Amino acid sequence: MRDIVLLGGPGAGKGTQAQILQKQFGFRQISTGDLLREHRNHGTELGKAAEGFMKRGELVPDELIIKMVEGELRDDAGVLFDGFPRTVAQAEALDALLESRGRGMAGAVYFQIDRASLEERLLGRWTNPRTGRVYHETFNPPKVAGIDDEDGGPLVQRDDDKPETIKKRLDVFEAQTMPLVAYYQHSERLAAIDATRPVDEVTHVLLHVLGLDHGH
Ligand code: ADP
Ligand code: AMP
Repeated sequence: MRDIVLLGGPGAGKGTQAQILQKQFGFRQISTGDLLREHRNHGTELGKAAEGFMKRGELVPDELIIKMVEGELRDDAGVLFDGFPRTVAQAEALDALLESRGRGMAGAVYFQIDRASLEERLLGRWTNPRTGRVYHETFNPPKVAGIDDEDGGPLVQRDDDKPETIKKRLDVFEAQTMPLVAYYQHSERLAAIDATRPVDEVTHVLLHVLGLDHGH
C-alpha cells in the first residue's frame, strides 16, 4: 500500500490515469481540483475562498489545501494524489502528514510533456462534472459528443480551460510546481514517464514504474 503523487502540468493526463488505476487496482484518487470544484459548487466556505484563485488560474493558498487534504485522508487504500502537492510547502506538509499516520513517504511519478501539448489537451478537454471523468474531443472522444459513455450525463468544458487562463495556469505550474521535480529527485522518490504517448501506452509505462504490471 504505497501512496503515489502524480506530478505534472495541467493537462498532462494525471486524472485520466488516476481514474484507470483507481478502477483496476483499488487505489483512491484524491484530486484537489475535483474536491475544490465540489466545494465551489456546494458554496462551502472553502469553495467561496477558493473560487477567485481558480477562476484566475492561480493556486489556492497552501493552508487551505493542506487542511482539505488532511480531512480526506483515511487509513484504507493507497492514495493517488492528483494535482497535489503543487508547491514545496505542500510537499513538505504531505510528507509530515503521511509520516504522522505511519504510512511512509509517497513516491512520485512525473508526467513529462511539452507546453504546446498541454495547451492542446486543455483546449479540447470535456469533463463530467459529477464524476470528474475526462474526455478529449480529438484524442479520447466520447461515443456521442457531449455525453458521458458511462453514466449518460452531459459533459462540460471547464471555465478555466480557456486560452488566457490556460496560459496563466501553465506559467504558475512552471514557477511553483516544477521545483517539486527536484524535491522528489533529491530524496530519490521520482520516476519520470513520457506523457505525450497515447493513453493506453502511458498506462502501460505507469504500471511498469509502479511495479503493478505483473499478471496484467
Ligand atoms: P490532468 O488531470 O493532468 O490535468 P487530464 O487527465 O484531465 O489531465 O487530461 C487532459 C486532457 O488530455 C483530457 O482532455 C484528456 O482526455 C486528454 N488526455 C489525457 N491523457 C492523454 C493522452 N495520453 N493522449 C492524449 N490525450 C490525453
Ligand atoms: P486542477 O483540476 O488540478 O487543474 O485544478 C484546478 C484549480 O484548482 C487550479 O488552477 C488551482 O486554482 C486549484 N488547485 C487545485 N489543486 C491545488 C493545489 N494542490 N494547490 C493550490 N491550488 C490548487
